Amino acid sequence: MAPEETLFAKIIRKEIPADVVYEDDLALAFRDLAPQAPVHVLVIPKEPIANVGVAEDAHRDLLGHLMLVAGKVAVQEGVADAFRVVTNSGEGAGQSVFHLHLHVLGGRPFSWPPG
Ligand code: AMP
Repeated sequence: MAPEETLFAKIIRKEIPADVVYEDDLALAFRDLAPQAPVHVLVIPKEPIANVGVAEDAHRDLLGHLMLVAGKVAVQEGVADAFRVVTNSGEGAGQSVFHLHLHVLGGRPFSWPPG
């Protein structure tokens, strides 16, 4: 079942503006509106999947592609030597937009475990 449409669908259709740093047939990457690091880019599939928790076997290639795009974005943004890729799945994990997205964060030190 397709998830309810989110504002990210409107960003994909260019109905609301975003600072896009990468785009191809399958994916879009744009700067987060409330950056948590000097580099904070969201990588999303154009296909609306709510989160990793509901992704299916059919999404295998797409999910791999998103990870590769995250790496490309990190190179493009000059943080390839140290960056973090995060995806929140479910409200309890901090997900607020239910269209799968990878946060690509870089440009500052990160601690572990994450909060
Ligand atoms: P999450 O909380 O993991 O679902 O992440 C959603 C992210 O989307 C947050 O980091 C928000 O700052 C970001 N966000 C929400 N609206 C926009 C927008 N219009 N453009 C860019 N980023 C957004």
